Amino acid sequence: MKQRLMFWMVIALAALMLARCHLVIHPLRPADAVIEVKTTGYCMCRKCCSWKFNWLGMPVFASGSRKGRVKIIGQTASGRMARPGTVAVDPKVFPIGTKFYIPGYGWARAEDTGGAIKGRHLDLFFWRHQAGSEWGVQYKKVRVWYSKD
Ligand SMILES: [Zn+2]
Repeated sequence: MKQRLMFWMVIALAALMLARCHLVIHPLRPADAVIEVKTTGYCMCRKCCSWKFNWLGMPVFASGSRKGRVKIIGQTASGRMARPGTVAVDPKVFPIGTKFYIPGYGWARAEDTGGAIKGRHLDLFFWRHQAGSEWGVQYKKVRVWYSKD
């Protein structure tokens, strides 16, 4: 009996660890819309997130309204840290908190913005710069759940 309990605990733990890749809570209601969007990839590097080191060696924004201000590398516009499942959007089109299912990428949540992200464009987060460039530019039909916050 105890062994069986242990077995299920190990399974649950493994499932939890796997789920960590895309930490997005899947919506239970049907999608609000299916929209064709442009998708690109980005990471937290200087090139993708437009930051640089200032003369003190501190990372600062290289452009935009917060230019020159200290940046926490990996922090998104929503304040949450970027991880796979994070997507940068144009908040006028997709409010922060909107959830997506993107074929080939998986579940994602709008948590970031960017100067170059305008209209129906999703910028998908990857840990490695190479993975982001390999994604390239892809047009995808994505399922959308608008934020009801
Ligand atoms: Zn990058």
